[in-house]
Parts: sequence; C-alpha cells; structure tokens
Amino acid sequence: MRSFSKTNFIFFFVFIIVSGTTSLLYYINVSKIDYINLSKKSLKQEAIALFNNMVHTRSWNAEHGGVYVIAKGSEKPNKYLKDNYTYTKDGDLLIKINPAWMTRQISEIANKNSEYKYKITSLNPINPGNKPDEFEIEALRFFESNKNMRYYTKFSNENFNFMGSLEIKGSCLECHVNQGYKLGDIRGGLRVSIPIYNYNQKIALIKSSNLYITLIVVFIAIIVLIIGIYFINSIYRRQKNIEKLNMVLEKKVKQRTKELEQNVQKLHEMATMDFLTQVPNRRYFFDLSNKLFSLAKRDKTELSLLMIDIDFFKKINDEHGHFVGDEVLKLVSKKIQTNIRTSDILARVGGEEFVVLLNETGKEGATTIAEKLRQIVENTTFTYGNEKIKVTISIGISVLSFLSDETIDDILHRADEALYISKHSGRNKVTFKEV
Ligand code: GH3
Ligand code: MG
Ligand code: MG
Repeated sequence: MRSFSKTNFIFFFVFIIVSGTTSLLYYINVSKIDYINLSKKSLKQEAIALFNNMVHTRSWNAEHGGVYVIAKGSEKPNKYLKDNYTYTKDGDLLIKINPAWMTRQISEIANKNSEYKYKITSLNPINPGNKPDEFEIEALRFFESNKNMRYYTKFSNENFNFMGSLEIKGSCLECHVNQGYKLGDIRGGLRVSIPIYNYNQKIALIKSSNLYITLIVVFIAIIVLIIGIYFINSIYRRQKNIEKLNMVLEKKVKQRTKELEQNVQKLHEMATMDFLTQVPNRRYFFDLSNKLFSLAKRDKTELSLLMIDIDFFKKINDEHGHFVGDEVLKLVSKKIQTNIRTSDILARVGGEEFVVLLNETGKEGATTIAEKLRQIVENTTFTYGNEKIKVTISIGISVLSFLSDETIDDILHRADEALYISKHSGRNKVTFKEV
C-alpha cells in the first residue's frame, strides 16, 4: 500500500473507470450506428427488390416486342408506337403496350393502392407526365456522370427515395430513336419511394434508448467513482490512523521500557545497596568478595580485609537519639569511603559494622590504611546542632592465605577475631590477625 501513493491510486482508479465508461459508450454508439446502417441497407434492399420486379416485368414485355391488350374505356393507341393497334376476330380494339407504357400503368396502380410509389422518368421524357422532379433530376444526372452506377438513393423527410437506372433496349428505340438514343444508353430511371414512417420511429426509439443508456452508464460511472474515491480515502485514512497509533504505542513502549529499566536499576540498587549509608550491603559484599577471593587466589595476588566496628555506638544512640546515630553511621561510612581507593570495596555488613576489601594489598598496606582510617575518625568531631560527638572505631585486619584459606569466610573469621582483640584491648585500636 505504501509503495502506491493515495493520489496515484486515485488517478489509476479514475483512469480505469473513465476508460471503461468511454469504451462502453463507444460500443453503445457503434451499435446504434450499426443498427441505423442496417436499417438503411434493408430499405435499399427492399427498393432494389421492387425495382428488379419492375425491370423483369419490362423485360418480359420487351422480349415479346410489346403486348396487345383490350383497350380500357377511352384508351387510345399510343401514337409513338408502330402497329399500335389491332382488332380481335370479334372486332374488339387491341392496343399495343410497350415496356415504358406498361411501367407507367403498373406504377399508377401501385401509386393508387399501396404506400410504395413508382415513377418512370427521364431527363428528356416524351410524355410530359413523366417529367422528373428535383430528386429524379439529381439521380439521372448522377447516372450520366457515373456510367457504372445503377442506383441512386436519398432520404427525404418522409420517404426513402430510390432511383434505378434503365438501360435503352431495342423496344425503347421504337419511340425514342428520334431523340438520338442508342442501345445500352442510360437515359431514364425508375424511381421507387418507400415511406419511412416506421423507419423514423425505430431510429427515434433507438436514439432515445441510446441516450437513456448513455445517461445511466455515465450516472453509474459517477457513483462508482464517488464510492471508489471515498473507499480509497477511508482506506488510506485508516492506514494513517494505524500508523499514528503505532507511533504513539511505540513511544509509550519506549517510555515504559525506560521506566522499567530505571525500576530494575533501582531494584538492583535496593537489593545491593544499603539504604541508609548508600554503600554496598552485606549481600552484595558476599557476592562480590567470593568472586574477588577466587580471582586473587588464582592469580596469586594479595587481598586483605578490614573489619570495622564503631565503638560504644549503643551509647551514642542512647545519648543523642537514634536519628543522630543514623547520621553518625552515614558520616563514618562517608569518611571511610572517601579515604580508600576506588578499587577497594566498602560494605555495611551489620548495624554499625563495616568491611573494607583491599585488592592487591598485603598486611603492611592494610595496616597503614586501617590506621589511617582509625585516626581520621578519631580526629573528626561529628557536629549536630549544638551537639559535638566524638566517635572512634576498632579495626581487625586479616590477609588472604593462599595455602590455608578455602573461602572468604576464613578471612572474615580472622578479621573478626582481630576486631575482638581490638575491642578487648581498649577499643579505638587496629589489630592484625596472622593465619
Ligand atoms: P562496642 O563498642 O562493643 O561495639 O559497643 P556497641 O555499643 O557499639 O555495640 P552493641 O553491639 O552493644 O551495640 C550496637 C548498637 O548499634 C545497637 C543498635 O541499637 C545500634 N544500631 C544498629 N543498627 C543501627 C542503625 O541502623 N541505626 C542506629 N541509629 N543504630 C543502630
Ligand atoms: Mg557491633
Ligand atoms: Mg560497636
């Protein structure tokens, strides 16, 4: 979806619908034109059939060199024909009818009794009744300039006008020889008119239904376009909303993860740090000291431990209150922390008891540091308001014995013993305990 922008998608959709609709309208229009052409063709076929009928009848007459029929009423023999009359043995008058006259007579009957009209005519008729009208002149001139064309057609408002050319036959020359006609000339034509009332009705119907279909197709196309564009828009809007929600969610997840990490960090600190003094607690000390013990033993590096206990702390609590006791604890730990190396580890392992693990430090170094710490605390006056408190610490020292120590507890145990000695020899002391 992303690879196809909304505008492109809409353009593509509109293109499909518009080209589809245009093709459909084109097809509908072509069908209409086809139908009209077919109707015209069938009108022409009908006219040709009627024309041929007449031509065949004329041929029949010509082949007989004209026919004699009993004269009707006041009918007179045709003065332009040779042997234009005779009598039956009963004395009835028989007049000669040549093809042209016969055509005229049949035409008159047809013109009287049917919708189809016939007329034999030429540009130069002997009979003034055969004088051509505008369409007929046009058709006859067309035949004159287009010798090979046999038919000429034209629609008027009410009729389909058809003219078929008539070739000069031997029987024609009988009358027309004086006009300079020759055999095979095209000098006249037979006009057939077919009323187009039905045709017009059908064409009007097809045109109006065509218009309706076109309007319906265009209407449906517009509806499809509107609905389609609406759907495309809503799909993209939904997609955008989902992306927005995802972003919000991602941001929230990041924030939550950060909070979680901070909480984990806090929990870790809470689990490993002493809340009051902010130095590592007993648990952390044992975890780490076990590892450092193993490392030192493996690498044969020195490791020493100071066990520190505040002297008469209970008395401080009793005299100054528990709160002040807490402050003393904090300050003592701070004093110790700031006076050891960063690689050394200070931890609070009991109420007023601390240990310091000194990496790569032997008896001499440990004793120096312990003495330094003892003096610093001794020389510090802890002041709370008006109260000035003197505090001392007792320290027991032990160092790692590569030979006999199995665990950190062995070192701790000796440091404890050393501390015990410091306490019982007057406190504010540093004692080293040999293995
Ligand atoms: P000693 O010189 O023999 O070590 O005597 P001491 O009074 O220091 O030792 P003792 O073990 O008799 O008393 C330790 C006191 O430390 C008892 C306890 O109330 C106090 N204590 C332990 N933890 C805390 C603490 O977190 N805050 C305060 N204010 N007091 C504590
Ligand atoms: Mg104690
Ligand atoms: Mg104590």
